[in-house]
Amino acid sequence: MQVLKFGGSSMAGAKKIEQVVSILRSELEKDKLVVVVSAMGKTTDALLNAGELAAKCDEHYKELLSNSEKEHLETVKSLIPVSQQSSVLSKVKTLCNDIEDICNGAFLLGELSLRTKDRLLSYGEILSSCILSSYLKSLNIGHEWKDSRELIRTNTHYNLAAVDFDVTNKQITEYFNSQSSLLIVLPGFIASDESNNTTTLGRGGSDYTASIIAAALGATVLQIWTDVSGIMTADPRIVNNARIINRVSYQEAMELSHFGAKVIYPPTIQPVMKKNIPVHIKNTFSPEHEGSRIESESPHIKNGICGISGIPKIALLSLEGSGMLGVPGFSKRLFEALAKENINVILITQSSSEHSICVGVDESMADKAKRVVDISFDTEIASGLVNSLIVEKQQAIVALIGDNMKSHPGISGKMFNALGRNGINVRAIAQGASERNISAVVASGDMKKAMNV
Ligand code: ASP
Repeated sequence: MQVLKFGGSSMAGAKKIEQVVSILRSELEKDKLVVVVSAMGKTTDALLNAGELAAKCDEHYKELLSNSEKEHLETVKSLIPVSQQSSVLSKVKTLCNDIEDICNGAFLLGELSLRTKDRLLSYGEILSSCILSSYLKSLNIGHEWKDSRELIRTNTHYNLAAVDFDVTNKQITEYFNSQSSLLIVLPGFIASDESNNTTTLGRGGSDYTASIIAAALGATVLQIWTDVSGIMTADPRIVNNARIINRVSYQEAMELSHFGAKVIYPPTIQPVMKKNIPVHIKNTFSPEHEGSRIESESPHIKNGICGISGIPKIALLSLEGSGMLGVPGFSKRLFEALAKENINVILITQSSSEHSICVGVDESMADKAKRVVDISFDTEIASGLVNSLIVEKQQAIVALIGDNMKSHPGISGKMFNALGRNGINVRAIAQGASERNISAVVASGDMKKAMNV
């Protein structure tokens, strides 16, 4: 069995859905398929914007909803023969009416809870998967449509719910054991909690849905079909000579996707990695292209580097003071204060002098971080043991990534030499003992140059 996932750009309109089906036809000749789809094009963004506008009592949400409805109806009209259209059109219309009801509710209440937001966003994937299923039916391609919410169980952390793998794996295997169809179509991204409320797996989460199902069923491969031909050595908008990497390890793919390469949603790797199921990234619009294969071992590359990535919009936070020297617990309190406010830490450095701890966070979190850390250390700041948190915005992280950098002397030397020779100042450095990632913090304005040199 193969699990195939098609992203929003692969589902964006009739022509593209036809292309998806041509891929399905050819893959069906080889094996049984499970197909997971994203919402069409930018539908999720549109639904999100509409919900947020409605909650702000801004009537423009109606325009967004009507555009989205039009897009879906047009797609049906182009894909499905007139004689079979009416039931599909009325189904799409009913779903769009539900969306409107939710937004009208948000408008009247002047608020959109996280739980309602998940319900609203779920319609994107429900619509796209139902349209694909209706199209397959019109072509007489036998298949089953299944609501992923009946298979994937999560906690109630709306918008970014955590999967309960015990219940989920059981539900998936039970359903698939009872299924003889060669093709099952499911909406990605959506799940449900114990009380059957709709939850979502985080933006980009359809990849994760596909990975969860692939792992539960022990699929032979997870194919992620997107609009690029694979993971690249660097972001091609930043680095001129970036190229596709044909093979990477799970670890490298995780590093690359955490560090800027948006080809795959990072949590996707974990379930398939545990089962050693290869992931194949393919381009829906050039299926003949080899793509990128993610598996347990990376091929041996001469210098050990598989890619260079960059994260813009970083803020460096430094907690400094002589009072930290040799006193256990400072870093624990710093990280606790950040975690309590849901501030994600991207990079950490502390030199052995223990005089300062420096962390990199998303720039949008910097002011909040300063507030909470200063409150947390108010006594020490008042008595001069530590200084108030120093925040430096407009920074970026540039990282070299590769499994085989391990025990390969001279790589960091070469990297910092290149940065130094080109007048790029390095503000902080981090390299874990895994030696899989060497990260340097540079000024935002230097990021592009740093990645290129
Ligand atoms: N439609 C959702 C999003 O745009 C999930 C996905 O496409 O993977 O984030």
